[in-house]
Amino acid sequence: MLTHLISAEQCAQCRLCCNFCRRSAWEAPALTFSLTQRLQSHGIPICQRPDGSMTFALHFPENAPDDYCADCPMLDPGCGCTLPRETRPIECRLWPVRLMRSPSGRLCLGLYESCPAIASPEVRFRIIRETTGPLLPELLRVADEQPCIVRPFDPAYAIIWEE
Ligand code: SF4
Ligand code: SF4
Repeated sequence: MLTHLISAEQCAQCRLCCNFCRRSAWEAPALTFSLTQRLQSHGIPICQRPDGSMTFALHFPENAPDDYCADCPMLDPGCGCTLPRETRPIECRLWPVRLMRSPSGRLCLGLYESCPAIASPEVRFRIIRETTGPLLPELLRVADEQPCIVRPFDPAYAIIWEE
């Protein structure tokens, strides 16, 4: 969805959005029913989130501290995500933008300010223009179909659109 706006080389050096601390394991992307079934048939570890949706099961050693981080099981440290782009979870394809609830409870789009790619004003501008323009109807449709991808507000994200 947005991967064409961010250089693969930059993501290869970063991997921030494919690596999760134990305390933020709940941020692992929600999976659709069909993707869950496909991954499970290939032995990919999956678990259920408190909201009932499915996500990747991350491997943390038993006594790992909260700041211990684990890679998404689909990440190849050398080559990046091993899922074809079009089959990745919607949250991965939308990153560094996230559907969330604003402090007033309205649906909004948040831009993750710590993504190194958006340090480029050009990339930031193009991401905002695309997600708040041509992509917006599709994002609203997906939010309606998959409410589990609408996350709580997080001040690490700048609100770039609000309903
Ligand atoms: S945080 Fe940004 S630069 Fe880093 S891997 Fe994710 S999209 Fe790429
Ligand atoms: S599915 Fe791919 S893009 Fe999404 S978190 Fe896992 S490795 Fe990263």
